[in-house]
Amino acid sequence: MAIACPDCGAEQLIPDLRPNTVAECCRCGHLLDQADSAGLTIALAWSWATLMLLLPANLLPLMRVSIGRNVRHGYIASGVHALFAEHWPLLSALFAAFTLVFPMVYVGLMTIVLTAVRMRHHPRGLGRLFRYAHGLRLWAMPDVLVLAGMVVYMRTQVQMQSQVQWGGWCLIAASFLLILTPYAFSKHHVWRLIMPDWPAPSDEPAISCDVCNLVLPLSREGSRCPRCRHRLHLRKPNSLNRTAALVVASYVLYFPAYYYPMSITVQPDGVQPYTIMQGVRELVQAGYWSLAAIIFTASIVIPMLKLIGLSWLLMSVRRPSRRLLGFRTRLARIIHRIGRWSNTDPFIAALMVPMISFSGLANVHIGKAALPFALVVSLTMLASRSFDARLMWDAAEHHL
Ligand SMILES: [Zn+2]
Ligand SMILES: [Zn+2]
Repeated sequence: MAIACPDCGAEQLIPDLRPNTVAECCRCGHLLDQADSAGLTIALAWSWATLMLLLPANLLPLMRVSIGRNVRHGYIASGVHALFAEHWPLLSALFAAFTLVFPMVYVGLMTIVLTAVRMRHHPRGLGRLFRYAHGLRLWAMPDVLVLAGMVVYMRTQVQMQSQVQWGGWCLIAASFLLILTPYAFSKHHVWRLIMPDWPAPSDEPAISCDVCNLVLPLSREGSRCPRCRHRLHLRKPNSLNRTAALVVASYVLYFPAYYYPMSITVQPDGVQPYTIMQGVRELVQAGYWSLAAIIFTASIVIPMLKLIGLSWLLMSVRRPSRRLLGFRTRLARIIHRIGRWSNTDPFIAALMVPMISFSGLANVHIGKAALPFALVVSLTMLASRSFDARLMWDAAEHHL
């Protein structure tokens, strides 16, 4: 089968794969194809289990915090409500989308698609549902919420008693399965079950779908892929302008995100604002070195790496060179996948505000940095999604 790599555009011939083998792009290492796997039943079982675990995770308390006889329970929904009540409606909507809506929709879609293909039932629109699930994967963030919950647990341990509750255990189990499930089956196999691959056109150039890899005649460019209904383009339309606009907006928001406090703690001995750096310093002082390193990476290193990396990638289309092309393509891919982990800090604030509300003893409020920071995370995720790494290869080829 002939296929063009969706990351670097290299056209390659893929032979029929033996069991347990994968085909990676010879230029950039992108996973082009994977042998049909027997793991579909396992993936389906895990998908159902994730769905069943997400329900109590959404409804039951995640954590219990107490000072003496004063007890507070933290739910995902109470974070959504607290952000709204503190007059941050956009932040509240983002938190609800990433932790409640997208995880449920993603897992629901995956469960529908896997159940249908396992039962050899292929209703119209199944490819479209699998594409939606595929697109939502990075935006469903229960695993990031678990990391934020771990930090809240450690932080509250310093002055209060905190315990993980049933909702929290279910969320941890659901996140674990959510990370594992994509490794249990071959998504290429599922695409072929939804609609078999077409024979490559012999008498005209080909185009392959960026989402499901179906190879079609180039004359179909601009129409929708018959398997997943994604619009077919040789290169993502308007990629450079869109990415550049999103990167510039992220730079503008970057400064208030680090300058202002993420959260503000009010205690009898005074008011303590916490910027991102102060949050890291507090974890170090409490002796939680490993957690401090994780937060430092997620909140400071990754956003910086993303902005500098995306700027470099944009520049390298304008000033083409063949140097490090493979590395730059891999970098674009890594930036796209890791960006979501930066949401840890806004999630920490969203969990702490409703739980740490002991009037007269301790209260936490949202700081001015939370919204710009959450927007930087989302905008850079959109920027890395709209960047087409194939443009760097095109530019380098024309440059020679
Ligand atoms: Zn490639
Ligand atoms: Zn497609």
